[in-house]
Amino acid sequence: MNHNLARAKACAPQAKAWGVLKANGYGHGLERAMRGFAAADGLALIEFDNAVRLRELGWSKPILLLEGCFDADDVRAMAQYDFNCAVHCDEQIAWLEAAEVKRTIHLHLKMNTGMNRLGFKPEAFAAAHARLRALPWVGEITLMTHFANADEAGHPVLTLHEQIRRFNLGAAGLPGPYSLANSAGTLHQVELSDVLVSDWVRPGVMLYGGTPGGRSAAEFGLRPTMTLSSEIIGTQNIVAGDAVGYGSRFQAERPMRIGVVACGYADGYPRHAPLGTPVLVDGVRTRLVGRVSMDMLTVDLSDLPNAGVGSKVVLWGEGMPIDEVAEAAGTIGYELMCALAPRVRVVEG
Ligand SMILES: *Cc1c(COP(=O)(O)O)cnc(C)c1O
Repeated sequence: MNHNLARAKACAPQAKAWGVLKANGYGHGLERAMRGFAAADGLALIEFDNAVRLRELGWSKPILLLEGCFDADDVRAMAQYDFNCAVHCDEQIAWLEAAEVKRTIHLHLKMNTGMNRLGFKPEAFAAAHARLRALPWVGEITLMTHFANADEAGHPVLTLHEQIRRFNLGAAGLPGPYSLANSAGTLHQVELSDVLVSDWVRPGVMLYGGTPGGRSAAEFGLRPTMTLSSEIIGTQNIVAGDAVGYGSRFQAERPMRIGVVACGYADGYPRHAPLGTPVLVDGVRTRLVGRVSMDMLTVDLSDLPNAGVGSKVVLWGEGMPIDEVAEAAGTIGYELMCALAPRVRVVEG
């Protein structure tokens, strides 16, 4: 994680970096991610209870709540634990205005520049800023937005440049640092440096060795931080016409050797992974065959005569890029990481 954080900082050397560890550190464990991001300038997440836990674990640098308060009660925790808070709607401003806050708190005012999830429209941004500025306890107000297509700057529906143009329009004349780039924006910061000026970057998935776009993590010099591994626990020799697994979805066209791997959807392996999804057995690439079941999946060992019970299997991670597995399964690396199941035993490398 530290290596990947250094990569993020190298991509955007002018910026400070939030290490994003929402969703239990993208499935890696909150405390583990916190330790991995010791060199970050701050930590950013969504969940208030985990933010409190970071303070209890001794994190003393800034903590940013990326979606801000979810109700008026959260304002108290925000002040008690000195959290930076995003502000994205009028309701949140009303909670802040109604609260008695006795210390200086830094806020991050979010603009909707075309993502159409959270944030104030560019034309409403200055008025929201003025309401926050009027609160005596508010410290720095960072101006923030989130890009829909930072991994595909020329997107035909909404270009990155258009989002940046709207941001600049809404932010014109307002003081405060800019917080604009997620992993995709951070990784492309160099090409975008003439238009994208971000004082803070908010890398998430890249810190865990995943990439948001079509390019590979290795191309960006990122290393996997999660390896999902298991073993072969059984083998079967089958003949043409034999089927494997639930629904007999895979039927052999020739004699085959099947390996049974102790890993299934109850571990977080995607059930919808299709025939041919790559799997590493004893360091050699082979393919998934048959349906993934709760506790097991099946692979083709026909070309791996030496593999058998006890052979090491890597489902993703070291030697098997998570993005490639995700792509084969019709999803993204983010979802695979975040869905890692609690029953999986974690071994720290
Ligand atoms: C999750 C999140 C990020 C990190 O996104 P990645 O694509 O994982 O880098 C950045 N900013 C906000 C507001 C987020 O919610």
